[in-house]
Amino acid sequence: SDSHFPVPISPAHFENDCTAHFPKFFPNGSKKIEFADIGCGFGGLLISLATLFPDTLMIGMELRDKVTEYVKERILALRASSPGRYDNVSVVRTNSMKYIPNYFEKAQLTKMFFLFPDPHFKEKNHRRRVISPHLLDEYAYVLKVGGIIYTISDVEELGAWMTGCLDDHELFEPVTEEELAADPVVELLSTATEEGQKVARNEGQTFRAVYRRIASSHAR
Ligand code: SAM
Repeated sequence: SDSHFPVPISPAHFENDCTAHFPKFFPNGSKKIEFADIGCGFGGLLISLATLFPDTLMIGMELRDKVTEYVKERILALRASSPGRYDNVSVVRTNSMKYIPNYFEKAQLTKMFFLFPDPHFKEKNHRRRVISPHLLDEYAYVLKVGGIIYTISDVEELGAWMTGCLDDHELFEPVTEEELAADPVVELLSTATEEGQKVARNEGQTFRAVYRRIASSHAR
């Protein structure tokens, strides 16, 4: 349960922890985390992103304790075997559905990832889905205007659900096919994630929704 892991009381408090997460970038660094992989699983995407964006700090958020520990070890091993690389990536055990605003301040993130999230098929369990109208409000809050939210699923119904939620939200617009084709991250959604690799091995289909955080059209 939640009592088994500490949750920072505010993004400022979490920033203090960042010395431990990114020792090479701190203490002189005033750099902030920009990418968050929500439900990162075994961390394949982050490992790929770390070298693609060597100057960007990124973090995985994962609920399962053992999986989080595995990712921690994986990152430490990579740092040891490839000095100077992987210093920009870390992982934290948390329930992202409850605590996103404890970790990130308004407009801090430039990319958020929701890759092959658990489908929660039954109608009464839809409220447990990581993409929902309510949670999109939180994601819009922590994303910078222009920031991108990447989602993918091998479950058609969930793919349609995520697309629907994003379409209905006034602070997100779809990224055009042209932009998707030019974005090196898009390919990694399937190729770098452990789930995506599994789906590819089984020659399964995937359903992707990639949206941009836009400015509100209303005066606030
Ligand atoms: N994104 C990874 C991939 O594509 O390989 C893992 C996908 S796996 C099917 C979904 C992951 O989300 C699991 O590791 C699960 O523990 C995690 N998860 C589920 N609910 C979560 C929550 N509320 N907060 C953080 N992680 C969660």
